[in-house]
Order: sequence, then structure tokens, then C-alpha cells
Amino acid sequence: MRSIYWFRNDLRLHDNPGLLAQRDADELLLVYVWPKYRPWCNITGIGAQRERFLIESLLALDASLRSKGQRLLLLHGAAETLLPHLVERFNADRLLTSLAPGFYERRAVAHLSENLSVPVECLAGNSLFAQSDLPGALAEQAKHFTPFREAVGQLRPQVPIAAPAQLPPPPTWSFTELPAAGTRAPIALPLRGGEQAGLERLNNWVFGQQGIADYAKTRNCLDGLDGSSTLSPWLATGCLSVREAAAAIARYEAEQGANESTEWLYQELLWREFFYWRAVQDDRSLFRSGGDKRRIRRCIFEPRNFARWCQGDTNQALVNALMRQLNTTGWMSNRGRQLAASFLINELDIDWRYGAAYFEKHLIDFDVASNYGNWQYIAGVGADPRGGRHFNIDKQARLYDPDGLFVSKWQGNRPQQPEFVTDAADWPIMPE
Ligand SMILES: Cc1cc2nc3c(=O)[nH]c(=O)nc-3n(C[C@H](O)[C@H](O)[C@H](O)COP(=O)(O)OP(=O)(O)OC[C@H]3O[C@@H](n4cnc5c(N)ncnc54)[C@H](O)[C@@H]3O)c2cc1C
Repeated sequence: MRSIYWFRNDLRLHDNPGLLAQRDADELLLVYVWPKYRPWCNITGIGAQRERFLIESLLALDASLRSKGQRLLLLHGAAETLLPHLVERFNADRLLTSLAPGFYERRAVAHLSENLSVPVECLAGNSLFAQSDLPGALAEQAKHFTPFREAVGQLRPQVPIAAPAQLPPPPTWSFTELPAAGTRAPIALPLRGGEQAGLERLNNWVFGQQGIADYAKTRNCLDGLDGSSTLSPWLATGCLSVREAAAAIARYEAEQGANESTEWLYQELLWREFFYWRAVQDDRSLFRSGGDKRRIRRCIFEPRNFARWCQGDTNQALVNALMRQLNTTGWMSNRGRQLAASFLINELDIDWRYGAAYFEKHLIDFDVASNYGNWQYIAGVGADPRGGRHFNIDKQARLYDPDGLFVSKWQGNRPQQPEFVTDAADWPIMPE
């Protein structure tokens, strides 16, 4: 039996059901297809830090595979056209991959299933629960977070499985080398891609000195590592299994007892889970301005305001600091994302999708379900039962950056600029 395994957001050996399912293969080809970055909202390409994190994750995966006599084949292009060629060339008997909840990712698998003569199987490896574990209809549960949390409250996450001790050999092909890690280094936040780095962060944060024990107090901090878990880059790329993270929380609770912090953190994993299943349910409407309700939102597109938001050059110092943090590190805290998103949507009146697309380009933890789901939530076209969130940024700055340390660290104070440079008919507004 010849098998192909297509890695997607599961760049790891531990708790990877897709890899384990290959034990019986005589030969195994392991493939990763570099993500397609379609131009969307006039934004193209991938940010430097996101690219760095992904390359590091792939190199780390390749190194682990080599220690088991395997290799990773990296391809560039559309999976729908590349994989059928591989199946033919390798004379494969089956193609396996992991379930990814986004519409385009699922459509790629559906296309392959329809057009390949060999079976295509999708295994759920990146969620706490399998769809069959969820009680009742997904459509009803995935609408709002509270009924979802109540429905899954009694469920235990699936137990993580160990990394395979051995893997079947690769075909005797000459593999091209993966791109070198290059000279790009993480800036300001030392977050390195790869399974080992993710497992270490989990272990240090849950069982180390400063971490989960204080999470209830620190989770809203604006800088990474000192505040929240900062596990998201590894969870989003699948370098770290979400079930491994849940199991670590459970181990900590068994040793030290459950407390407000452990419960909060598990609840955050449930938010991730909620958006995961909501994305499956939402299908294409995850990318619609009005979401699944097709609600119409009034928007103005003032390109200069969008450019200033992206660069961190608005008249709001905290938003500037947050955007500068994102542009430099590829990461932003949850509180920061909420504020930057609310500012774009409610103060600049820009279509939320432009902000989501900009986040997609830069976030090292970009995850289609969490990103688009959270943006829709704040814009009031998604899962928020209250119809959207409008934050008072000055008040939030007083609460979360009372001494202005974050603003000063990221140089958020910029010269004041006029709100509009053109009028409603697009004529330049002359300065007074
Ligand atoms: C506008 C906007 C865009 C976002 N885009 C993304 C994204 O592309 N990728 C992403 O992983 N998260 C996204 N989030 C959710 C959240 O901001 C990040 O998961 C969190 O900031 C990551 O930091 P952490 O690992 O320290 O989180 P912690 O607070 O330590 O939480 C632990 C884990 O729980 C999950 N989690 C926490 N909050 C949320 C949430 N609101 N929604 C979904 N999962 C959550 C994450 O996997 C996170 O790593 C977004 C939120 C907003 C408001």
C-alpha cells in the first residue's frame, strides 16, 4: 500500500491521528503545500514574521521526520492541481489529510475526493472534540458561544495520542531541500516555530513559575509571554495539539486543584473550538460583509485611514501601539485585537474584512476560523448575541495601559492628522 499524507495545520508528530493511520503503509509520501495567498481586500502576500514562523515550523517538522527515516516534500501551487499529479506519479492507493474548518480548505478536499480515483480521507486532529462527539445538531450549537459551552460542558476532550514510534519509508525520490530559516529572527517576542518549541512553551507556562496560576489576572495584558499563554502560534499551525494543551490543564488541575485561572484558560480553548465548528457551519458566509444574516453595515472606505490604521499612525495612541506591535512581531493580545478591530469598524467605519485580511497577512497565529469569526463577532454580523462590540478606546487605555508603558514601548504617540482628506464626493478637503 502506498499512501500520501498531506500536512495542513497539523505540523507535528504528537497527537496526529493522520500520521498514525499510516502505520500499515509500505511507502509513505509526506507533503506540505505552501498556503495560497489570494489577493483579498487589496492585500497580497504574507508578513515577514508569519512567513518566518511557518518556515521554522516546517524545518522543525522535517527534522523530526528525518529522525524517523522520513522527509517532508514542500510544494508551491494549488493543492487541487498538485496532489493529483503526485498521486499518479507515486501510484498512490490513498490520500489522507487533516480536517481544516475553512470553506476554501474544505472545498479543496471535496474537489480532490470528486476527482481522484483513490480514496481521500480527512481526519479531525485539530479540535478538542470530533463532530460526532457533539451532542445535537451542529447548526444550533454553533450559533452562539453560551449554548455551545453548555452543550460541550460535560464532554471530555479526546485523549491525545503519542507520536508514532516509526513511520513507513518514503519513496526513493530525490527531495528538494526546504528553504533555509534565513536570517529573519523573531523581533521583540522570542516565539520560534516548531513542535518542540510549542511543547516547551506549554510545559513551562503550565508548570513553570509564572503562568497558568496567574492567568485570571494577567490574561488581559497587552504584551505576550508575561500575560496570556501565547500558545496561539503553535496551536494555529498545529505544531501543538489543542488536546495536548487541554490535557496539560487537566494534569495541572489534578496536581494543584482547579481554580479560576485554569477554568478561564479551558474556556478560551472552548472559544477556539466554538469558532472552529462555527466556521464549518458558516461556510462561505464567514467572508461575507453581513455574515450569515447578511446584515447590511454602513461603511466608508477612506483609503488613507485604512493605510494609517495598518501602519499604526492614527490619532489614537493605543491603537497605533497595537498595530506597531503586530507589524513588528506578528502577534497581538486578545484585548489588543478587540480594540484595534473595534476602532477600524466603529471609528473609521471601514468594512471589517479589510482589517481581517490585514490580520491574516501578519498574524503568526493566523487561523481562519478564529480570525474571521472574531472579526464578525465585533462587527455584529457573527456570533455576538449583543450585535457587536464598540469599545471606548480612551477608557480601555486607562484600564489596561494606565501608565502608558505599552504606548511608549511601541511608540504609539504620533502627530495628529485630519480625519478625512477627501469629502464624500472624493474632492480633496483643503486644510483650514
Ligand atoms: C479581531 C480578532 C482576531 C483574532 N484572530 C485570531 C487568529 O487569527 N488566530 C487565533 O488563534 N486567534 C485569534 N483571535 C483570538 C485571540 O485573540 C487569540 O487566540 C489570543 O490572543 C492568542 O493569545 P494567547 O495564546 O496568549 O491566548 P490565551 O488567552 O492564553 O488563550 C489560550 C488559547 O485559547 C484560544 N483563544 C483565546 N481567545 C480566543 C478567542 N477569542 N477566539 C478563539 N480562540 C481563542 C487560542 O487558541 C489561545 O491560544 C482573534 C481575536 C480577535 C478579537
